[in-house]
Amino acid sequence: MQKLKQISNNIFYLPSYQETDRPILAAIVGEERTLLIDAGNSSSHAKLFQDQLEEHNISGDWLVLTHWHWDHIFGMSEVQLPIIAHSMTHDKIKELQELSWEDRFLDQRVKEGIEIPFCADAIKKELGSQRDIFLPNPDLIFETRIEVNLGGRTCVIEHVGGDHSHDSSIIYIPEDKVLFLGDCLYANLYAKEWNYTVEKMLNLIHRIEKYDAETFFLSHHDAPLTQIEFRSFLTLLKCTADLTKKYGGGREVIISEMAKRFQRSLNELDLEIIGYFVNGFK
Ligand SMILES: [Zn+2]
Repeated sequence: MQKLKQISNNIFYLPSYQETDRPILAAIVGEERTLLIDAGNSSSHAKLFQDQLEEHNISGDWLVLTHWHWDHIFGMSEVQLPIIAHSMTHDKIKELQELSWEDRFLDQRVKEGIEIPFCADAIKKELGSQRDIFLPNPDLIFETRIEVNLGGRTCVIEHVGGDHSHDSSIIYIPEDKVLFLGDCLYANLYAKEWNYTVEKMLNLIHRIEKYDAETFFLSHHDAPLTQIEFRSFLTLLKCTADLTKKYGGGREVIISEMAKRFQRSLNELDLEIIGYFVNGFK
């Protein structure tokens, strides 16, 4: 079972859990109000987070969603707070409200290519037979950017999009120099082959680099990244995007050029990132 962690007086998070694709959930605690980030992938995930917050005498006032994917929103009804969401997240939730999540419906959607096996399998594992998903309408809808004042702490929520999901938004807490990136830097999974595209990724990185942050949360990473770790991840993404463009998505030449640039042999992550860019270039 995941245990609540605290990185400063104001910031708590529940670590991710790969087995059923639970993302990191977080609470930003101001002097007057608390913002929760993401609802979790089930009522039990949301409840686990809320119970642990309660042990620290923390309760939320608002919930913000980083994007529409099931693992970030299925706990919404359990959270019972006013929900802040980007207009495209809102629109996707309206679509999902019409769907059923029992095996036969999930399997049918996988067959039709609307759902992907990766999510369908994790949904089955996480939810067991409890597939009665109630998705409330988000309450506060924004288009570009919204600032939430928690008292002594500000949360800047900004839509950034990207390959992973067109509605991705990030949350920046300037007083703590912390940036919550949701899944925006991950690949597009809703495709035949998981992929990154050069232009979208470079645009996204350009936007993210403007934030003066020291701690970076990617929702399915085990722990937050330091500035050094995050910069090296961005360097890898930028370098791969560059080489993908330069060599027209030619996998072997990208691999050998990158090994030369980095002056080391490539690891599993490097090869995975290269694979996604090559897939996106086809
Ligand atoms: Zn996602």
